[in-house]
Amino acid sequence: MSALSDRINMLSESETLAMTRKSRELKAQGFDVINLSIGEPDFNTPDYVKDAAKKAIDDNYSFYTPVSGYQDLRETICMKFKRDNGLDFTPDQIVVSTGAKQSIANVVLSLVNPGEEVLIPAPYWVSYREIIKLAEGKPVFINTSVDSDFKITAEQLEKSITPKSKLMIFSSPCNPSGSVYTIEELKSLADVLAKHPNIYIVSDEIYEKINFSGKHASIGKIDSLKERTITVNGISKGYAMTGWRLGYIGAPKFIAQACDKLQGQFTSATCSISQRAAITALSVESEVTLKMRDEFLKRRDLVIKMLREIPGFKVNVPQGAFYVFPDISYYFGKSNGNITIKNAGDLANYLLTDAYVALVPGEAFGDPRCIRFSYATSKELLIESINRIKKSLEKLS
Ligand code: PMP
Ligand code: GLU
Repeated sequence: MSALSDRINMLSESETLAMTRKSRELKAQGFDVINLSIGEPDFNTPDYVKDAAKKAIDDNYSFYTPVSGYQDLRETICMKFKRDNGLDFTPDQIVVSTGAKQSIANVVLSLVNPGEEVLIPAPYWVSYREIIKLAEGKPVFINTSVDSDFKITAEQLEKSITPKSKLMIFSSPCNPSGSVYTIEELKSLADVLAKHPNIYIVSDEIYEKINFSGKHASIGKIDSLKERTITVNGISKGYAMTGWRLGYIGAPKFIAQACDKLQGQFTSATCSISQRAAITALSVESEVTLKMRDEFLKRRDLVIKMLREIPGFKVNVPQGAFYVFPDISYYFGKSNGNITIKNAGDLANYLLTDAYVALVPGEAFGDPRCIRFSYATSKELLIESINRIKKSLEKLS
C-alpha cells in the first residue's frame, strides 16, 4: 500500500516541466540539448522593473502583505483591466497570487464540487486537467484539430453542456496551439453560454501581450457573461517575469473572497518585492513588451516556414503566444532500427535522444497527434534544432 495519498498518486507530473527537467539532466551529462519544451520568454526582465524591485528592498517592503495583494497593486490591476481590456473591476474583486497557475487553482478549488463538469477546449494547457482532478471535478474535453485552427465552435460547445457543467476554462492566445479567438468567435460562444446561467467562465489571458492578430479580446467584456467570468492574467509572459511568480484574477466579489480565504490557508500573499515590481510593470504600456512581441512574430514566421518544409508535418499559422503545434501523425508506425514511433510521446523521446531537441508531446495537452514547439529561443538555436529534427526524421521509414 502506498504511503502517499490517493490524491497525489492520481496526479500527473507537469509534462512541460518534466520535459524541461529531462533536458537539463541530459545537458548536465554533457549532451548538447536544445530545449524547445519550456514556455517562457528568453528575454530579461526590463531594467525599469528591476529598479523598482531594488528600491522596494531598500524601502523595507519585507513584511507580510494582505493575502490578496497590496491595495495599490490591486488598484493598478483595476486600471490595467480597464485600459487594456475594457473590464470594470474594483480592488475587492482582485486577488493576486503566486503565478497565474495558483490563480487558476484557487478558482477551480473554490468553485468545483466532486463530480461537477469542467468544459475544456482541447488542446489545453497541461495544468488545467490536473488541477480539476485535484478538485475531484470531471474534465469534459471539446476536441479540435489543426484543420479547425484548434478552435471550438458554438455547436460543439452546446453539445458538451450537461446539467452538471459548472465551469469552462480556456486560454486565448492558446497554449499550446497559439490560436486566438476573435471577438466575433467569442460572441458566438457567449450566445450559447447565455442560455446556461449556471456556468462560470475562466478566461486565461496570460498570453494577451503576445498577439499578432490585432487587439486582444476578453470574453468577460461581453454583457451576458460579465457577472460570471473570472479573467486570469499575470506578468510572466508579457513582461518576461516568469521567476517572479505573480498572477492575478478579476472576478465576481464572492469568488474573489473565496480565493482569498483559500490562499490565506495555503500560501498567503505572493512575494512583497514582486508585488512592488508588478505595480511598475503594469502601470505603463511597455516598449519592451512590444519589442518582444515583434521578435516572437519574426521567429514564428521562421519556424512555420521551416516546419512546412518537413515532409508530413501539418502546420497552421498561430496568431499568438510562442508555440507551434504541428500534427505529426504521419510518422506514426515508422521506425529507425528497433525504435518504432507509435505516438507523439515516442516521437518526442526519439527527437530528444537522436536530435537532442526537447519538445512536449501533444498527449500532455489532450491532442496525441501533435507535438509542441516553443519558439521562445534564439533564431540560431531554432534553425539548428529544426535542421537536427529534419535529419532524425529522415532516418524513419
Ligand atoms: N496559463 C497558461 C496557459 C500558461 O501557459 C501558463 C504558463 N506557465 C500559466 C497559465 C501560468 O503562468 P504563471 O504561473 O507563470 O503566471
Ligand atoms: N506555461 C509554460 C509551459 O507551458 C511553463 C511551464 C508550466 O508552468 O507548465 O511550458
